[in-house]
Amino acid sequence: MKFDLHDVPERVSTGTLPAPDLVEEFVEEAHQRNQSLKGGSVADYIPALADADPNLFGVSVVDVSGDAHDAGDTDHAFSIQSISKAFVYALVCEELGHDATYERVGVNNTGMPFNSVVAIELNEGHPMNPMVNAGALTTTSLAPGTGDEQWRWIWKGLSAFAGRHLVLDDDVYRSERAGNQRNQAIARLLESYGRIEKDPLEVVDVYTKQCSLLVTARDLAVMGATLADGGVNPITKERVVAPHVCRDTLAVLAANGLYERSGEWLFEVGIPGKSGVSGGIVTVAPGKAGIGVFSPPLDDAGNSVRGKQATAFLSRALGLNVFASDAFAEASMTATAEAADDDDASGEEIDERAHDLSDQEA
Ligand code: GLN
Repeated sequence: MKFDLHDVPERVSTGTLPAPDLVEEFVEEAHQRNQSLKGGSVADYIPALADADPNLFGVSVVDVSGDAHDAGDTDHAFSIQSISKAFVYALVCEELGHDATYERVGVNNTGMPFNSVVAIELNEGHPMNPMVNAGALTTTSLAPGTGDEQWRWIWKGLSAFAGRHLVLDDDVYRSERAGNQRNQAIARLLESYGRIEKDPLEVVDVYTKQCSLLVTARDLAVMGATLADGGVNPITKERVVAPHVCRDTLAVLAANGLYERSGEWLFEVGIPGKSGVSGGIVTVAPGKAGIGVFSPPLDDAGNSVRGKQATAFLSRALGLNVFASDAFAEASMTATAEAADDDDASGEEIDERAHDLSDQEA
């Protein structure tokens, strides 16, 4: 579907987070209420992931001003896995632009597991979207250069999102490389359809490396906050990608970030997220904050069980769901009544509060 909006200036409306001490409290609560949650199993199809401690659990929120709120194991390093797909997609969008990325990779959900070969066949060789392996491999293949050049470009870009030099987990890389025949098959299939124009095995190797970069839950929150902040890392203040790239990336995450559970995620959480098989999830509240969670046990689609619950709690408690609203008149009345109780409140303050409430609904 083509939309001709190039000459329409974009107006942005997001809202604000609650006060920092409340955010701190809710992050603590998100951790506490889910710490003893059981269920799910640690991924073992990549042997190096099978050793992860199932009890690890970290929750981090970084807002667009760079303030961080952490609870639990937010400094524990794990391989980023599929979450890299979101950020590599953003980097490639920045390079290729909206239309070219849309045409080459697509944006629609497959409704099938992330490593499905059937989805490619059913769609006549189209990779469908950048959050399943077919689309992620296609996206990686579109990074400038070949082989090592592409890897360095991606590595540098992901590090800019995190605001620090990320390090490769060599054990995870080797472990996945030894057993990634399925990804090789997907890349070969895409090559046969003319969708990958570079050496498919080299593309798989770069993709495997990008998945093996080590991050923490805190890093994920910073990376998410960069997408929430129009592409500027709120800690380093570096512009990593353009605002329209964040908008496009988040739309793709909303539709595809939690694989075949993406509809369920949007229904319960109401903001875009991206999960990975090592147990991380990054979630983004545009204009407000990034959330990074980590806990290795996964549901049967590959999403962290505790991570999903903690993020859903935060979305509700912090007012992040982009689909939620209150009646404007009632919100204004509450603000007016509160202000009347407060002797010092000026008319201007009353207006501001009513406006804040309506902003949060936007
Ligand atoms: N590197 C993993 C793979 O390609 C990533 C999968 C994931 O996190 N869902 O299989």
